[in-house]
Amino acid sequence: MLNVLVTGGSRGLGLAMAVKLAESGFNVIAVARKSSAALDAAMQRPIEGNVGGLSFRACDLAAVDEIPNFVKTLRGEFGRFHGLVNNAGLGTGGLLANMKDDAIEALIRLNVLSPIVLTRHVVRSMMTGREGRIVNISSVVAATGYSGLSAYSATKAALCGFTRSLARELGPLGVTVNAVAPGFIDTEMTEGMEQARLAQIVRRSALGRLAEIDDIANMVDFLFSEKARNITGTVMTVDAGNTA
Ligand code: NAP
Repeated sequence: MLNVLVTGGSRGLGLAMAVKLAESGFNVIAVARKSSAALDAAMQRPIEGNVGGLSFRACDLAAVDEIPNFVKTLRGEFGRFHGLVNNAGLGTGGLLANMKDDAIEALIRLNVLSPIVLTRHVVRSMMTGREGRIVNISSVVAATGYSGLSAYSATKAALCGFTRSLARELGPLGVTVNAVAPGFIDTEMTEGMEQARLAQIVRRSALGRLAEIDDIANMVDFLFSEKARNITGTVMTVDAGNTA
């Protein structure tokens, strides 16, 4: 079975991606600081179609110095990596003038530095296999902007730049690198959103509704499929037409 690492795989978008990829036949290793009741339940259920695998390994990805050893341990346990989904992230918002420097630093550390360092270590095993898939979870705000999310948006824009250049670097080795830009999705990260702002997002969306967790998981699943073999260096927007 091909190994795929999904960071932030304990809940929200990451959990849905992990389950979907396992159902598509991958051996998924979900990574977060701790597991969750929902992930525990998913690991206990037989995978639909009985094809893939789903397990959990704990790591605080903000502790960037620990990433090399973490990857080495996983490699020893599971073997070569086929795929990586850089999904774990912080969604800290606030008017920039009111934000604390350490909150900004924490955003940049987990949302930018950590996925770049993790990719650097995981990609080495893809290079030896001369194939692989990398998906970085960005956001529509990287391109559109949203008041109260300037530092967060900067981190998500960084992932788009990272995606395009890395796609060029790894293309000759048969590795695809893409980003997915979700619109607003109802998860723990977004639960504090004001109803009025939410209604405005729905109103501005071409389809008059929000995209859902499964829509993002389906896009990631597609990017891992044979059908997406010639897609690389792109940012796939999934937002029910909010930015159309
Ligand atoms: P979420 O519900 O808050 O889940 C975040 C995941 O990341 C959890 O599994 C969490 O587990 C993990 N995580 C957080 N800090 C970590 C750390 N230091 N080390 C390892 N894992 C860590 O978020 P979500 O809404 O599913 O968002 C997932 C991704 O999609 C994020 O990158 C987010 O920016 C992006 N996104 C979300 C939306 C949206 O509307 N929800 C829209 C656009 C983009 P632990 O806390 O247990 O570590």
